[in-house]
Amino acid sequence: MSQVSRCQVEECMYNKNMECHAEEIEVLSSTTNRSVSQSANTMCETFAPKG
Ligand code: SF4
Repeated sequence: MSQVSRCQVEECMYNKNMECHAEEIEVLSSTTNRSVSQSANTMCETFAPKG
């Protein structure tokens, strides 16, 4: 199982000091046709805004 080494999304409730504290994350493609050719075409589905 992989671990998230670093995440820059400070607006996420799981982010503390650029580290992900979610137990696990799900990553989806962010393109409408689901064709992924670069990291920018991916997104973290586990993201949740800070409350
Ligand atoms: S859940 Fe996703 S967006 Fe949030 S800190 Fe973890 S990797 Fe980053």
